[in-house]
Amino acid sequence: MEVKSYNNANDTDNPVIQQMLNLGHEQIVFCNDSATGLKAIIGIHNTVLGPALGGTRMWSYKNELEALNDVLRLSRGMTYKSAISGLNLGGGKAIIIGDARSIKSEALMRRFGRFVDSLSGKYITAEDVGMTTRDMEYIHMETKHVVGIPESLGGSGDPSPVTAYGVYMGMKAAAKKQYGSDSLEGKRIVVQGAGNVGRNLIDSLVKEGAHIFIADMYEDNLKKVTDKHPHVNVIDIDAVYTTPMDIYAPCALGATVNDDTLSKLSAQIIAGAANNQLANEKIHGEAVKQKGIVFAPDYVINAGGIINCFSELEGYNRERAMAQTENIYNTTLEIFRVADEENIPTYLAANRMAERRIESIANVHRGF
Ligand code: NAD
Repeated sequence: MEVKSYNNANDTDNPVIQQMLNLGHEQIVFCNDSATGLKAIIGIHNTVLGPALGGTRMWSYKNELEALNDVLRLSRGMTYKSAISGLNLGGGKAIIIGDARSIKSEALMRRFGRFVDSLSGKYITAEDVGMTTRDMEYIHMETKHVVGIPESLGGSGDPSPVTAYGVYMGMKAAAKKQYGSDSLEGKRIVVQGAGNVGRNLIDSLVKEGAHIFIADMYEDNLKKVTDKHPHVNVIDIDAVYTTPMDIYAPCALGATVNDDTLSKLSAQIIAGAANNQLANEKIHGEAVKQKGIVFAPDYVINAGGIINCFSELEGYNRERAMAQTENIYNTTLEIFRVADEENIPTYLAANRMAERRIESIANVHRGF
């Protein structure tokens, strides 16, 4: 399996089939329903390992090309995340075009659920940006191919605590690599984003005796942290990159590891929950390596959420999901080992390991 970098996903003359070829997508489904105003795209990147699982994002895209690029990029990312996590899942993602606050309705969500159902389980959906648990309940009325539904409906509920646990494990593995010990005691850690994952991560870091610095745009999110942990230091969002630190934990946005931030960062480790942290994989993956920073690849260490969802497909068991998430520690160490052995950046080691797993399992299924 060889796919090109997602930076190639910008061919305006050949927006669909050529991009599918570039990125290795199997199927793209365009959904339209004028009665409800539903406009959606379901991207199925790869189903070699299993059904394509990934959340649905609802967003006011500037235009259809932007929406298509997003679904192509995100669905491809899910293939890698599930493959490296040892899950029997492929990669998929869906987007619904429109403002979640104004066009959402029960009928729209249920109609989207019908489209998901029409794929007979080849694509399994879940929650993502702009979607709520209530929306997942509506989708669930029309299809069983949905995970991350509330615990009251037999689902696994909010995945954030499991995601945070995986990030914590990945961060400890990075400390082991950088300092020879996985203890985070006394380490100065900047957590960017006091959201669902950031807050759960801080609980573990505080328990271990780390010095936490936290930044968020919203006072109420910061207060949720400081009410519980009064010793956590609040910093301005503009001070994130210049604060002296050992570990930078991006838990808000993507693309925060770039030319500008790398010139300011004093961290020796980058390990956080945000997706696509490297603004440009090739350039900034290499730059991080050159600076001697240990970068724990984001899709590897934030896989707790998908591990949790996968467990739901097999009859949800929280202990099993947590145990599998704990293994992110070993997977991350293995990535560091391969990166050293092949003298390549850690993101590339992770990509190659994921691709190798997909190739080898494709061979298992061949010929029967
Ligand atoms: P969230 O929306 O609950 O939290 C994000 C927080 O970041 C918010 O509190 C927001 O105010 C803050 N924020 C936004 N811009 C900021 C900025 N410039 N500086 C500082 N803070 C800023 O989201 P979450 O569920 O905690 O997820 C965090 C990240 O992890 C996201 O990138 C998400 O895609 C990724 N992720 C989450 C999960 C999960 O299970 N929730 C799984 C995998 C990946």
